Amino acid sequence: MNILEPRKYIRGFVVGMVVALQTGQVCAQERVEREEKVMEVFHTISSHDLLGYAAELSAPRYRGRLSGSPEYQAAAEYVAGLLGGWGLRPVMADSSWYQWFPNAWTEVVEPGKVLLRRTGKGTGKGTGIRKLDFPADFYPGANSASGKVTGEVVYAGFGITAPELGYDDYAGLDVKGKILLMEPGVPYTANDPALAAWEPYSYHRYKFRRAQELGAAGLLYTGLTANPNTSYLEGFVYAHISEEVASELTAAAGREFSSLKKEITSGLKPASFATGREVSITAKTRHFAGSRGCNVVAMIGGSDPVLKEEAIIVGAHLDAVGHQGTLFPGALDNASGVADLLGAAQALASLPEKPARSVIFVFFGGEECGLYGSLASTTDPWWPREKVLAMINLDMVGNGTGFFLQGGDSWGGVAAHFIKSNEDFLHRPFRSSENRPSYGRPRSDGAVFLKAGYPTMNLWTTGTVKPVYYHQPLDDIHGLTPEIMEDAAKLIYLGVLGAANDRTLRPGLP
Ligand SMILES: [Zn+2]
Repeated sequence: MNILEPRKYIRGFVVGMVVALQTGQVCAQERVEREEKVMEVFHTISSHDLLGYAAELSAPRYRGRLSGSPEYQAAAEYVAGLLGGWGLRPVMADSSWYQWFPNAWTEVVEPGKVLLRRTGKGTGKGTGIRKLDFPADFYPGANSASGKVTGEVVYAGFGITAPELGYDDYAGLDVKGKILLMEPGVPYTANDPALAAWEPYSYHRYKFRRAQELGAAGLLYTGLTANPNTSYLEGFVYAHISEEVASELTAAAGREFSSLKKEITSGLKPASFATGREVSITAKTRHFAGSRGCNVVAMIGGSDPVLKEEAIIVGAHLDAVGHQGTLFPGALDNASGVADLLGAAQALASLPEKPARSVIFVFFGGEECGLYGSLASTTDPWWPREKVLAMINLDMVGNGTGFFLQGGDSWGGVAAHFIKSNEDFLHRPFRSSENRPSYGRPRSDGAVFLKAGYPTMNLWTTGTVKPVYYHQPLDDIHGLTPEIMEDAAKLIYLGVLGAANDRTLRPGLP
């Protein structure tokens, strides 16, 4: 692809930025009126409304919007209702707002329990039982089986057996009936072609399957990050624990938890061992294997008889990590991105003269379960890929003071509209970058679109001003900065409008 530097592109603009000439000659008066209307609508985008959408989606009634659950569906209906009310229409061939896909899910009925038996060795904390606090010390596994398991804790590094890479965390380790203490991720940390060989081992699903295959009774995953991107395995009970708890467990065997990972990653050498500590995990869950999730897909039809066949897609995942013993509201991740898109959708839909190209808003389901929604969108597309001018994904766009348009430099023609809109009207710090190949597993809906060959950009906020509670119960609306959400919606509104009306752009070309 030919990469244009966006700033150079701006200097070469021949069409008006926000309102391009729709037909050959439009009188000056008409043009001024159009521009005034665009700015009038621009000023209707308000942080108050956007925070309202984010607050609604973060409310207990949606139980953290776990894809596949009835409460996620209620959130999808709320979003579809707003879009319909503003005059957007469904994109799916059956005139439904929803694109369905299989989506098993698990209800965590109660937080459960994790008990550590103290031997007095290594920890300086005496003997007895330590009952872990929820949610300070542990989270229940989002796809844990129901039941109770007890066993000795065995540190199993990354839980990977990769003979072709000469790597096996399980070598010489007896894990039958044991509870594994495990790190997420892979020991290879550089983003270069060698990482690709580790990709199959980076999935939580692989690790769980492997652990169960070897007879492990259960698993403690290190790090307090709730995550439904795992599999439900009959009889396999697991929980997430804090690093502090992991440290106590390894200390009994005289090992320092904080240095173990470094030890493994620096030499790509496993460092597994039995801790001599006994743990029991109790979980109470209910699994729904045959459930389904959905994307909400809506559009504003283009006003130009030819260009309307082309589309700009803007997306944000609507789902979050659910109710894991308590509410995980998913406000920043990603009610913020959804609210930004809703603000932009309402504004674009209220323009008397619609953009020349079609604009599609997609609210993905299943992102947190394994990118189900974007995979469904790209394998069973609702718009021909070669007619997509750009896909712009928003994930966690609601805490900060500036913007980062990842991939913008790879699609300079489209990105220029966003950069110019920011320079003229928003004045936020703004960075953009080229799309760089990622050799690990795709981690966002944008990555799925990019991999499928769509011209893709990801919008993020930068200059974080509030603490980020990623996949934690504290990810609520108090962690949002509504001012940047308003500007994100305005940026999407102006940037999409400019690109949708820019007749010099062609799908698939920078
Ligand atoms: Zn997210």
